[in-house]
Amino acid sequence: MQIRKLIIIGSGPAGLSAALYASRAEMQPLVIAGSKPGGQLMDTTEIENFPGVPSMLGPELMQTMRRQAEKFGTQFVDGDATKVDFTKRPFTVWIGDRQEQAQSVIIATGATARWLNIPSEQKLRGHGVSACATCDGFFFKGKNVAIVGGGDSAMEEATFLTKFANHVTILHRRDTFAASKIMQQRALSNPKISVRWNSEVVEVLGEGKVTGLKLKDTQTGVTEDVPMDGLFLAIGHMPATTIFTGQVETGKGGYIVVTDYTHTSVPGVFAAGDVQDPRYRQASVAAGWGVMAMLDAEKFLAAQKD
Ligand code: NDP
Repeated sequence: MQIRKLIIIGSGPAGLSAALYASRAEMQPLVIAGSKPGGQLMDTTEIENFPGVPSMLGPELMQTMRRQAEKFGTQFVDGDATKVDFTKRPFTVWIGDRQEQAQSVIIATGATARWLNIPSEQKLRGHGVSACATCDGFFFKGKNVAIVGGGDSAMEEATFLTKFANHVTILHRRDTFAASKIMQQRALSNPKISVRWNSEVVEVLGEGKVTGLKLKDTQTGVTEDVPMDGLFLAIGHMPATTIFTGQVETGKGGYIVVTDYTHTSVPGVFAAGDVQDPRYRQASVAAGWGVMAMLDAEKFLAAQKD
């Protein structure tokens, strides 16, 4: 079997930036792009804060980044990495039955949305319950929807939903938001948005489609049924680290622990982007992490030769 210099797992901004740099350094990287290539930006609309890109749709930005990496010889597999063995080098990565081996690996699998994990929410997922306002907002034209969360995502997505919905209620479990002031102001000054403080969703009501929510006041414990056509979740993200558990050290929330910038607990395995970064979570930051991980992998490989 061919033993590659570098395998990159993930094809969001971190993975593709690592691939661009690695291919230009003639490391002939293989990117395992996932069954849904492109990462979280594939679920967004307009991106206006990626340096050098004044305005572009998220999927278009990711396609551009992929083409740029391909131009210098990066190879892609559009499938999920299903298993890894980092106990010995070369490292092995499985994509179903297919096996690939490399002397170094960059993990850039990103993160996915969190859910409330109540049975009625899961039952009505895709039938009025969604964790992606930008993907599904369109289906709620003229409807009344609620969004759970108090961070920047909730503010941004509530504002976005007002493009379609008649009214958006932000449901937050506390009485202050975690979101930045500017994002809060933007949401709170929107006449189509109202806030229900100290509010928790205990049940999503409806058969086959959402018709209401059972809400509990977190201070008094009193519950109330409120008519609603849709429910969006914006309560944070979980890193995609399931296949790496037990292979590299993971920490709080399952994020991969890195030391000395991008080094994981296994020499030769590096991590970049949202999979190890619960704090910044920006595409441009993830891209920077990708470049850092590639430079660290290159240095690691050079040291092995010496
Ligand atoms: P955050 O972790 O910042 O916020 C999550 C929110 O969800 C919190 O208010 C939290 O409540 C609430 N929450 C968590 N779990 C539950 C639960 N089980 N039930 C009810 N509520 C819950 O996540 P975000 O996705 O908002 O943001 C992540 C990062 O991305 C942040 O750093 C943010 O700044 C950044 N971001 C930046 C944007 C921009 O600048 N354009 C846009 C979007 C995100 P509590 O406060 O009580 O803990």
